[in-house]
Amino acid sequence: MGVIRVLPDRVANQIAAGEVIERPASIVKELVENSLDAGATRVEIEFSKGGRSLIRVEDNGRGMTRDDALLSIERHATSKIREATDLDHVISFGFRGEALPSIASVAHFVLRTRAEGQEVGTEIVINGGKLLHVRDCGMPVGTRIVITRLFNTVPARRKFLKSDRTEAGHIIQVARLYALASPGVAFSLIEERRSVFQSPICPDLRDRVAEIFGKQVANLIMPISGAEGDLKIEGLLGRPGVGRGTRHEMITFVNGRPVDSRTLGYAILESYHTLIPKGRYPVAFLFLSIDPAGVDVNVHPSKREIRFRDEPRVRGFTIRTILNGLRSEVEPAPTRPIRDRVEPVEPPRSEGSRSRDDLPVRTATPSQPAAGPVIPVPIEAERRALPVGPPAGSAANRPEAGRSVEWSFLGTLQGAYLLFETDQGLVVMDHRAAEQRIWFERLMKAFRDGEVAGQRLLFPVPIEFDPIGGVIVMDHLDFFGSHGFEVAPFGRNTFRIESIPTWLAPEKGEDFLRDLVGMIRQGSLSSRKPDLAAEGLARSACRRLTENLDLPGAGEATALAEALFSCLVPQTSPTGRPTYIELDTNELNRRFHKGRPGSSEEMF
Ligand code: ADP
Ligand code: MG
Repeated sequence: MGVIRVLPDRVANQIAAGEVIERPASIVKELVENSLDAGATRVEIEFSKGGRSLIRVEDNGRGMTRDDALLSIERHATSKIREATDLDHVISFGFRGEALPSIASVAHFVLRTRAEGQEVGTEIVINGGKLLHVRDCGMPVGTRIVITRLFNTVPARRKFLKSDRTEAGHIIQVARLYALASPGVAFSLIEERRSVFQSPICPDLRDRVAEIFGKQVANLIMPISGAEGDLKIEGLLGRPGVGRGTRHEMITFVNGRPVDSRTLGYAILESYHTLIPKGRYPVAFLFLSIDPAGVDVNVHPSKREIRFRDEPRVRGFTIRTILNGLRSEVEPAPTRPIRDRVEPVEPPRSEGSRSRDDLPVRTATPSQPAAGPVIPVPIEAERRALPVGPPAGSAANRPEAGRSVEWSFLGTLQGAYLLFETDQGLVVMDHRAAEQRIWFERLMKAFRDGEVAGQRLLFPVPIEFDPIGGVIVMDHLDFFGSHGFEVAPFGRNTFRIESIPTWLAPEKGEDFLRDLVGMIRQGSLSSRKPDLAAEGLARSACRRLTENLDLPGAGEATALAEALFSCLVPQTSPTGRPTYIELDTNELNRRFHKGRPGSSEEMF
């Protein structure tokens, strides 16, 4: 007799359950997807003890007849695809017909459902894959599934569950994702009989985010959109400077389905990488629509992970759309110049031939080494409003775009910070971070425009490298040349720096060239990717340029603030640190217990 047997369904289902049901939240996901696929406009989710003791999902969708209900708990029974070719065009959430039988094989499972036009509903009860009974029941049109005693048949799985709090967190996240994905459906989530969130049908995405994630999050984000061919993006993205310690608020949807996509995740991080600190994650709710034929959703049984057929196209489009959106947000509105409390606003320093687009550099005559750090000159023609509001704090007190504000310089703090008084309170600016942002954008502009002038050194500087460094320099002579460095070979691994970029002080030329070679060696700078190279170069340059800054006087501080706000992204340094923070007067009053009834102020 042969030894090969076809597995009994019950065992097959339990095996499938191992794949489909990673944790309680996976059950919630499968059931909610079914409700949405059934055309529900109301979905209620309840759970307790992290889903261990109860998961209930109830909808007002089209429900099932008794025959369909019985089929729904059979393996590979699905109403959603008929042939394998349909797989390319799947637009419903489910299509494998695995979820219900898998869930029913590892828990106590009660399905109640009634289809339109049926007199009565059907109740099916299954425990650990064993059908206990099927009978008529009273029930409004729709479906209600109640899962208790999760993993009672597979005790080993129970042991792998994390704490109730952790499992609850996953369930809440899943419910949020689907609620966000389906603004045309009313959602309610209940934990231990208490409402976690409740969101009526609500077409405005931002209101929806406020209901689901809270008003605070909703205030930190701004709408973006874009379209190219079959690709379309709508989204709400965190303002520059808004960063989170986890990815939980970096959420992507493709054709209405919450997904994990490396491509989209990478594109979002990439777009923000100079706007928030390293190691932090942006807040992003990003909805991409694309021709379904361009997506492969069948990568993983739980279907969260997807791939695009043309990854570079999707990535490029996403980055462009986000950057455009961020740019239009941070472009401040025109306004009057800021006033200066201590002394009249200095006119921008006139330095002869310098036009407004020139880099604010030292006099670039070779015989005369530049001295001292230079305060960038404000760009007259582009005076801008100083948007108020902390770069990373609550944006609730952010004024509408276009409101102009006056900043008055008060003084400095600890040799590092500049203090300003504003309409709203007190601004503390990080001097170096602000200088770095200004330099960074000016250099980037110069690199992009190809205007990197070199200054000839009267006495070329000899520079020697180790053999690898020598090879790198030989290979990159053109690259250095196009960025203002003329370097001539001068024997084994030895070179002469003949000219350096005008923005660099001659005494820093050698160090900076060594920096560049080091970066190329580590792979953080590649001459084959000009955009990235320019950025790496600019970032490293502005580090060097802002070493040992002198504290500005009043006029210079004001000019510095203006120059900062003529930047595209004034709120952060090129590495994503805040350039300034604002202490709101209301906050100060609150901390001094002013303006509250019964406060000490009233007693005197
Ligand atoms: P799939 O969703 O992959 O088709 P499931 O096991 O999740 O597989 O569901 C099997 C079938 O049961 C579905 O195709 C659908 O016809 C039916 N079904 C499941 N849940 C519901 C529901 N909430 N309302 C109506 N029909 C449902
Ligand atoms: Mg399903």
